[in-house]
Amino acid sequence: MAGLKKTIIRGGLETLYFSGMHQILRPLVGGVGAILTLHHVRPPRAEAFQPNRLLEVTPLFLEGLLRRLRRSRVDVISLDEMHQRMVSGNFKRRFVCLTFDDGYRDVLRWAYPLLKKYETPFALYIPTSFPDRLGELWWLALEAVIANNNRIGLVVNGKDRFFDCGSVKEKRELYDEIYGWLRSMKTEEELRRVVRDLCACHGVDIASFCRDLCMSWEEIGQLAADPLVTIGAHTVNHFMLKKVPSDATVRAEMEMSRAVIEAALCIRPQHLSYPVGDPTSAGPREFRIATELGFKTAVTTRPGVLFKVHREHLTALPRISVNGEFQSQRYLKVLMSGAATAMWNGFRRVNAA
Ligand SMILES: [Zn+2]
Repeated sequence: MAGLKKTIIRGGLETLYFSGMHQILRPLVGGVGAILTLHHVRPPRAEAFQPNRLLEVTPLFLEGLLRRLRRSRVDVISLDEMHQRMVSGNFKRRFVCLTFDDGYRDVLRWAYPLLKKYETPFALYIPTSFPDRLGELWWLALEAVIANNNRIGLVVNGKDRFFDCGSVKEKRELYDEIYGWLRSMKTEEELRRVVRDLCACHGVDIASFCRDLCMSWEEIGQLAADPLVTIGAHTVNHFMLKKVPSDATVRAEMEMSRAVIEAALCIRPQHLSYPVGDPTSAGPREFRIATELGFKTAVTTRPGVLFKVHREHLTALPRISVNGEFQSQRYLKVLMSGAATAMWNGFRRVNAA
């Protein structure tokens, strides 16, 4: 997310909170429930350069959230229960689902004991190449390349270019610039090729992130054995599916991930999360294919709470991102009220285009 947009959101949320407007809007936009997105849960780190910090929250913050949910009149439910309530029209009580994308080991170490303590059901969406140790966590590899070097070389449009990144400020700016450039590429193959080359030239082992940070099949199996846990699919290779030219490949990414999880854990995933999940990564074609493959639900990262009408769009569900840049319970209260995302969506209830 660009710095400016982030500032606007932060500013907007503060305004909403202090004006109390979200309380007024609540009956209008509060919806019937919400699905929260989390990634890493781990203690804060000291480094000044942490461009991916938005993907992590601290155990302390998570515990605050779980305590708040416990005290509220909102039901914390599994994805199956959410699906059941949506299709049967059971909207007597508002609900929240907790979902963790990518299967990081810190979820097992730091989040799971807390989720267990508060008896909170949650879902893990697993890209099968991660426990298969073939995953490329390119956004972390890019972070390491910039963190470990004071100057990096890059071929842009066929020309060699060099960037100084000795200071934290330069590192942040360079990360944003390269990240934006990579995300604007037409295919993810191009993106991966650039990051692989960067890693090869700057002494970063791209395979190490998957090995060091992601759960093994054995670890996922430990969690999967707990009735609190739902295992969902998150494709095989974690590609931005909308950028994949062939429908057959998109279908295979979804179908294969379900088959691999079933083979590894004897659990057939009924729920799917689209990698990255924003409008540049998942669109109508992906929603249709997920429906055709029989997934009960599929989630995006488009911001929003759930409305009754989402039962017609169960493979294009919005979520609320629990963003590490906004680790204040106050932000979360506003986000879950639906007011902030309603403003973001211009008061459109369904955004499935
Ligand atoms: Zn993911």
